Amino acid sequence: MKKTLHDVKVEGKVVLVRVDFNVPIKDGVITEDNRIKAAIPTIKHLIEKGSKIVLFSHLSRIKEEADKAKKSLAPVAKRLGELLKKEIKFIPQTRGAELETAIKSLKAGEIVVVENTRFEDVANGEVVKSESKNNAELGKYWASLGEVFVNDAFGTAHRAHASNVGIASNIKESCVGFLVEKELSALAAGIDKPAKPFIAIIGGAKVSDKIGVIDNLLKKADKILIGGGMAYTFFKAQGHNIGKSLCEEDKVALAKEYLAKANGKIILPVDSANNTDFKDSKATFSGVDLPDDMMGLDIGPKSIELFKNELKGAKTVVWNGPMGVFEMENFKVGTVGVCEAIANLDGAFTLIGGGDSAAAAIQLGFADKFTHISTGGGASLEYMEGKVLPGIEAIKNK
Ligand code: AMP
Repeated sequence: MKKTLHDVKVEGKVVLVRVDFNVPIKDGVITEDNRIKAAIPTIKHLIEKGSKIVLFSHLSRIKEEADKAKKSLAPVAKRLGELLKKEIKFIPQTRGAELETAIKSLKAGEIVVVENTRFEDVANGEVVKSESKNNAELGKYWASLGEVFVNDAFGTAHRAHASNVGIASNIKESCVGFLVEKELSALAAGIDKPAKPFIAIIGGAKVSDKIGVIDNLLKKADKILIGGGMAYTFFKAQGHNIGKSLCEEDKVALAKEYLAKANGKIILPVDSANNTDFKDSKATFSGVDLPDDMMGLDIGPKSIELFKNELKGAKTVVWNGPMGVFEMENFKVGTVGVCEAIANLDGAFTLIGGGDSAAAAIQLGFADKFTHISTGGGASLEYMEGKVLPGIEAIKNK
């Protein structure tokens, strides 16, 4: 078990916090500030404890010197100040005298926001990836600026960067923040110690993106319901005609292997909502053998019923990936149906593992009805694959 904020002494100390302030910014204006808000419980706790707080975050990607002008964390620091009703000192640098002096002059409860950590990926016009490739000197330097490290950025936990793994490996004391703690306990309850029956629902475009997840969940789940574009590769593996649907030819053999080893655990759709092309107009329906000129874009009504029945009585449900092209009005029905069915389950632990399914649930207004919606797409996917998350692994154990 990793240390949490309850396990470390932060009173009066210089506390370095890796937060996830990677918010969408358009023309210098933050269009959505949920991630800033999500970091506030940890920051408030540190303010109350009288810590001297130094916040690190990346913002988007920096591929060349010119990116830096548009990707400063300055507007984020300003927004944080508004949310906390508190003055925040923003340092437009990622290292150097100005930053060091600002940290040294911090008083209890005061906050410094460091410039976008990924500015370190490009130095003097050269791509060096010091942050993204966890440059040893950079992690050591950042760690030297404080006494305790708190990782509260779940979204980057699957990456070994200087601002998470680098700092954590070079500092005496570290722990996870409240946000990461919540993510980890939800994922543990959903994946590691699931109450049974445990039903997983996997969808999305490609089998290749979800191989690790299917592999790991085959060991843990009682049933895996498969929908979305990836279902058609499975139909092909069963010898069906999938028309013009999405198919990964090089994964057909693997799909066959999964079906054999799943021993009935994998439940596939029984019908399909189709269109002649990848476009949003009225669906026509077929069974799992599609006419040659049709493309499957959603699961059909019989499959929705089948999946609903399979979900009855589930005690743990983990969902990752839409059942169809939910961005299209005519092909969101399967995703809505499944989302609704999970949301309405009584007494079940329900978890959405990030990405498109999280977006779908929020957009459809079901967000409050799930036990947990993970915020970290890549990180939660890797957790579901049973992989170790380096950003978490580097934190001290209890
Ligand atoms: P993923 O990021 O792997 O979860 O995939 C999500 C994407 O898969 C969404 O943008 C969906 O539109 C797309 N998708 C789902 N079902 C299908 C399908 N039957 N054909 C093509 N794309 C699909």
